[in-house]
Amino acid sequence: MNLAFIALGSNLADPASQIASAFSALDLLPETRLTGKSGLYLSAPVSEIPQPDYVNAVAKIETGLDPFGLLECLLELEMAHGRVREARNAPRTLDLDILMYNDLVLIDERLTIPHPRMHERLFVLCPLLDIAPDCEIPGIGRAADLLPALSGQILKKMAD
Ligand code: AMP
Repeated sequence: MNLAFIALGSNLADPASQIASAFSALDLLPETRLTGKSGLYLSAPVSEIPQPDYVNAVAKIETGLDPFGLLECLLELEMAHGRVREARNAPRTLDLDILMYNDLVLIDERLTIPHPRMHERLFVLCPLLDIAPDCEIPGIGRAADLLPALSGQILKKMAD
């Protein structure tokens, strides 16, 4: 089995219930078990398009899927939650990103692991640290050590 962390985000159509439903759906993916759920966080959108705040969370899974198989399942889950692909940074019912997959470092035109912007985002690192306090991001370093540089970002915890 492989250990992976998935970032979840939503800012449309009752975001907190989109995230709750996505956690359950991850547990139902083939060869996959949900083994950790972070709290829910509220963050301001990183976008030039005016839109509601995001609810963010991170899931820990054990999976027999390979990284590309996992990506395909996540894209299907986004579609099943009514995701419409519009402009970059447009509002969305559900966004699912692979943050890490074991200690894999992968750079491919379809998939980059660790996620290339995860270390710059408080709304990713805080929920990740909820469920993996000693987490080491391959090629980057300890997630906890990255927090001081992100102290200018605003994040509110909504629920455990
Ligand atoms: P977005 O939904 O806007 O975050 O972009 C999704 C697209 O980014 C997917 O179709 C993937 O091909 C690509 N992508 C590259 N790296 C990742 C990753 N680590 N997790 C999820 N999608 C990724």
